Amino acid sequence: MPSATKRKKKGRVFSGARPTGRQHLGNYLGAIKNYVALQDDYDCVYCIVDLHALTTLETTENLRQNSYEMALDWLAAGIRPEETIMFIQSHVLEVTELHTILSMVTPLGKLTDLPTFKEKVRQQPHNINYGLVGYPVLMAADIVLYKSDAVPVGVDQQPHLEFTREVVRSFNYRFNTQCLIEPEMKATEFPKVLGIDGVQKMSKSLNNHIEIAATPEETQQRVMQMVTDPQRMRRTDPGNPDVCNVFTLHKSFSSPEEVANINVECRRAGIGCVDCKKLLAKNLNEHLRGFRQRRAELDRNPDDVWDILNEGGARAKRIAQATMQEVHAAIGLP
Ligand code: ADP
Repeated sequence: MPSATKRKKKGRVFSGARPTGRQHLGNYLGAIKNYVALQDDYDCVYCIVDLHALTTLETTENLRQNSYEMALDWLAAGIRPEETIMFIQSHVLEVTELHTILSMVTPLGKLTDLPTFKEKVRQQPHNINYGLVGYPVLMAADIVLYKSDAVPVGVDQQPHLEFTREVVRSFNYRFNTQCLIEPEMKATEFPKVLGIDGVQKMSKSLNNHIEIAATPEETQQRVMQMVTDPQRMRRTDPGNPDVCNVFTLHKSFSSPEEVANINVECRRAGIGCVDCKKLLAKNLNEHLRGFRQRRAELDRNPDDVWDILNEGGARAKRIAQATMQEVHAAIGLP
């Protein structure tokens, strides 16, 4: 029996990410690797949340291409569409209906009190739209629509998941039903990957990122721009790997022997930053070679990638429709 029809022992996991286009090392180490690993134990539903993206976008002209590029990265990195449901949020519009229904059991004050909302108000004071306030309600709708048992969340997303659990309890209590599942928080430690500036979180908007789909030459160029231990001014100065982002990345992409060697040699100026970066670029390119080949192959047939997304959408829709039938019955909608 194919695994898609037989639910895996540990249940169903849902996660969504906004379509930010080509993914960077932060997305890769902080999200995608976990997405791939979870497939072994869970039925996974991974959603490209384009509706959520509308709350912060200034322009939508790249929305379609960004969704496509992100899907390519996910697939090439090891998402298995024959078992995992991978789709685009707006392809299953039941989510907007459930969002509306859940908003009726959501006290407004809860939403405006969330730290993530307050942060967005600070970030975009010129565009505090209604959708931004309802962002967590839409997220709750996504999670419960697909009957998810668990959601992997880092510290910053925990209030959102707790909010989802509260909404589910309110709904089930209000309509005297058990039809919505209260999802478990699968607390996950996500590494925070710093950008090439060595200070801020790697992010496209800060242009301090390294794309996983970059060419080997581009990768080498970006790595050579990385800021290392700021106290190490000259090649002959001893360095401190503990404060160097190049060393941190070595830990993810170089062999244990190489990491141990750099840890010793940097401290006694045995290796310079230039050589250290060259080695990182080489190992990064080596690590990503298979991924890049698979990505290029997939990119030769964009229609196939869209088929995967559409097929995922159709599978997601079947689950969504069944949930909505139960929701309608519980509420008593005619
Ligand atoms: P979203 O709004 O969907 O979180 P992002 O592009 O910011 O969109 O992030 C997508 C995923 O990648 C999230 O799970 C996020 O935590 C992870 N991520 C993004 N940047 C980094 C980073 N610098 N370090 C670690 N994880 C990151």
